[in-house]
Amino acid sequence: MKKYLLAPGPTAISPEVLLSMAQPILHHRAPEFVELLKRVKEDLKWLFQTQNDVLIIASTGTGGMEGSVSNFLSPGDKALFINGGKFGERWGKICKNYGVLTEEIKVEWGCVVNPADVAAALQKDPSIKAVFIQASETSTGVAHPVKEVAEIVRGYEDCLMVVDAISAMGVFDVKTDAWGLDVVVSGSQKALGLPPGLAFVSVSEKGWRQAEKSSNAKFYFDFKKERDAIQKNQTAYTAAVSLIVGLEQSLRMMKEEGLEPIFARRAMMAQALTEGMKAIGLAPFPKESPSVSVTAISAPEGYDGQEIYKNLRVNYGITAAGGQDHLKGKVFRISNMGYLDTFDTITAVAAIEMVLKGMGHPLKLGAGVGVAQEILLKK
Ligand SMILES: *Cc1c(COP(=O)(O)O)cnc(C)c1O
Repeated sequence: MKKYLLAPGPTAISPEVLLSMAQPILHHRAPEFVELLKRVKEDLKWLFQTQNDVLIIASTGTGGMEGSVSNFLSPGDKALFINGGKFGERWGKICKNYGVLTEEIKVEWGCVVNPADVAAALQKDPSIKAVFIQASETSTGVAHPVKEVAEIVRGYEDCLMVVDAISAMGVFDVKTDAWGLDVVVSGSQKALGLPPGLAFVSVSEKGWRQAEKSSNAKFYFDFKKERDAIQKNQTAYTAAVSLIVGLEQSLRMMKEEGLEPIFARRAMMAQALTEGMKAIGLAPFPKESPSVSVTAISAPEGYDGQEIYKNLRVNYGITAAGGQDHLKGKVFRISNMGYLDTFDTITAVAAIEMVLKGMGHPLKLGAGVGVAQEILLKK
C-alpha cells in the first residue's frame, strides 16, 4: 500500500531533502560544515524575516519553547499565556515548571484571542514580563492575530512577545522584525519538510536585554551560549549535522519558490480542501481565522472522527490526525504543510469522500473533488 503522510507534523519530505541527508556525515567543526552553517544562518534570517541571528538547536520544537521560558524569565516573574488549545496550554505548563507566575487568557477551542483582552491584562498588571502565544494553534486549526497582539506588547518596555510559530513559519506570513516579535520559535518537522529534531529560535535586542536579567537554571538550552556559537558559524554542542544539511536543501527550494508564492500556494491548498469538504456537507472546525497550516474538519453528525482518521490509514494508507482531548472523535485534521502539492490535496478530499461513503454517509462521490479541482485548476 502506498503511504501518504498528511499529518500536521511530522510532514512528508521531498526526495531532494531525503537524498541530501543520506550523504556521509560531516564533522561539526570541519571547515565545510562551518561554511554550510554560515549559509543556512542567512537563509533562516530570510525565512524568519529578521536581521537577528536564528539559533539552531538539536531538539524538537518543545525544546525551543522551553528555552524561550527559561532564558528570558526568572522564578517569580509574571507571564501571560494564551490558551486556546494543546499548544497554548503547553506554554502554561512550561512556565509553571520554571516557577513563573502565570496569568492565562482562556480561549474557546476553535476561536482566537481577542487582542483587547491582552491589552486589558497588561494594563491591569504592567509587571508581566512576557506574552506567550501560538501563531498557528495546531490542535484546533486556528491562527491567532499575532501582529495585533504584538502591537500591544510593543508598548511595554519590559514585556516580550514570544511566538510559537512551529507550525506557521514557512506557511503564512510571520514578519518577525516588522511586527516586533521578540522571540519566535519554529521546528523542522512541520512547514520545512524535514525530519523532527531541530528547533529554531530568533531573539530580538529587547529579548537579549531581558535574558541578562534571567536567573533561571539552564544548561543545554542556554540561548546566550548558542548565540555566541552561531555568530562564529558554530553550534554550542555537536550539531545535528545531517538535519542541517537537509535544512539547507529545504531552504534552497523555498528560496527558489519565494515567500509570497509559497504563502499563496499553501493558502490555495487549504482553501481547496476546505471548500471540498463543504461541498460534501462537512464544516471546518474553526469558528474564526482558520490556519492555512492545518485544516481541522468537524466530523459529520453521527460519524466518529477517530473512525474517519483510522479508516483513512487502514483503508487507504493515509496518515492524517484526529482530535485531541475533548475534540477526540469530533474532528479530524489534514496538513497543508510539508512536501505536498495539488494532487495530495485532491487525494485527501477523494479519500475522505470514500471513507465516509464506506461508513454509510449518503454523499455523492466526486462532489468535493470537483470543487477542489476548480480551485486548484491552473489556467
Ligand atoms: C508541533 C508543534 C509544537 C512542538 O512539538 P514538538 O513535538 O516538540 O516538535 C509546538 N507548537 C505547535 C503549534 C506545534 O504545531
